[in-house]
Amino acid sequence: MTDTSTFSLLAPGEPPAFEIVNPAGSSSAFLICDHASNRVPARLGSLGLTEAQRADHIAWDPGAAEMARRLSVLLDAPLVLSGYSRLVIDCNRPRTNPQLMASQSAGVPVPGNTAITDEDSAARLSQLFEPYHEAVETLLAARADRPTTLLSIHSFTPDIGDGEPRPWRIAIAYGRDDRLARLLIPALRADGTIVGDNQPYSVTADSDYSIPVHGERRGIPHVLVETRQDGIRTPETAWQWAEKLAAAYRSIEADAIRLTQSAGAAPPVDRR
Ligand SMILES: [Zn+2]
Repeated sequence: MTDTSTFSLLAPGEPPAFEIVNPAGSSSAFLICDHASNRVPARLGSLGLTEAQRADHIAWDPGAAEMARRLSVLLDAPLVLSGYSRLVIDCNRPRTNPQLMASQSAGVPVPGNTAITDEDSAARLSQLFEPYHEAVETLLAARADRPTTLLSIHSFTPDIGDGEPRPWRIAIAYGRDDRLARLLIPALRADGTIVGDNQPYSVTADSDYSIPVHGERRGIPHVLVETRQDGIRTPETAWQWAEKLAAAYRSIEADAIRLTQSAGAAPPVDRR
C-alpha cells in the first residue's frame, strides 16, 4: 500500500513501529509478538483513555513481550515485536476488520478512534501496521531455505469480565493448520498443566492476520500461544512460562522440523 498520509505519525525520538531481536537466531522457531506494547504515539495523545485504561489488557497483551523476549533468549530464536498499542492499530486484524482501529474494546469506548480521518487511518496502516508485517515477511523470506516454525506470542485475561475464571493456564490456537499444535499441546500437558486447545480463542482468517498471512500462506507450521495474564504479571513469572514453553518446544523440535520438510503443507490463503 502506498503511504497517502501527509504527516509523520511518529515524532523524532519515538520508537519505531517494530523491534527486531536476535534476527540471526539459530532456532527453528521464529517468534512474533503482535500486542507487545501499549505505547501510543504522542501525536494521538491519550486516545481519550485514562492511564489505567491504557495500561489494561485492551491496549496490549500484558506479559507477552517479556515472555517472548525470554523465549528468544532460551531458544536463540528471532523475535519481532510490534512497537505500538493494538488500540492505535491492531497488528493481528485483517485490514477490513472493524476492530483494526477499535472505537470500543471490551466495552470500553475509545474516544480517539471514533472519528478517524482517512489520512490518520492511512498513516496508522502505512507507518505502523505495514512496517511491522514487512519486517516479519523480510526475515521469514531470508530464512526460506531453513526449517522454520512460527510462534505468535499473546496473553489472555483470566476471565472475560463476568468473573467466571478461565481454567487454562496457557493455550494453543490455530486455524486450518493444526500440525504444530498437535505436537506442542501434549508436550505442554505432560506435567498436568491445563492447556487450551483452540480455547479460549481459535485463529480465523476474519479475526486474525499474522497466522493466516505469515503462517498459513507460507505453509510454515505455526501456533498462536496465549498465556493467562495472571500467570505472567512479573518478569520472573513470565520467564518461568517462557522456560516451560521453551522446554516443550525443544522436546518436539525434531518432529516440528520434519513438518517443515514434508510435502503437502497447508494450502495457501488469499492475501488480505
Ligand atoms: Zn494478543
